[in-house]
Amino acid sequence: MIGSMQDCIFCKIINKEIPAEFLFEDDLCVAFPDIHPIAPVHVLVIPKKHIASVTELEREDEPIMGRLTMAAKKLAEELSVSEKGYKLLFRVGEHGGQEVAHVHLHLIGGARLSEDIHPLV
Ligand code: AMP
Ligand code: ZN
Repeated sequence: MIGSMQDCIFCKIINKEIPAEFLFEDDLCVAFPDIHPIAPVHVLVIPKKHIASVTELEREDEPIMGRLTMAAKKLAEELSVSEKGYKLLFRVGEHGGQEVAHVHLHLIGGARLSEDIHPLV
């Protein structure tokens, strides 16, 4: 995993130092398209607070995590994937495949999606 808060690419997106198209923004979170989409709809919903990983969550962050889910639900409706369904994904740490050390909820949809999660040997 890469990045402290100082060189966190998602903090830079929040601070508008790196461009991204904001699809949603409120006091706690923002959402923007994933730069390498794996499906017709692939959006990242992230907290404005720098939290490196789900492993770093504190009790006080509980409302933030609820808000991420509600934002994803709203975006799914706006992006017309709500009826057919979608996946919501948090990668966590090395085994989870997390590459950006700032909590992000993947909203992935627009096609029927594989369930192909399996251990790498
Ligand atoms: P993860 O593997 O769960 O940590 O996912 C990180 C995601 O961030 C990947 O799907 C990347 O394509 C995406 N990503 C990295 N840099 C950017 C960026 N500048 N704008 C949008 N998405 C990005
Ligand atoms: Zn950050």
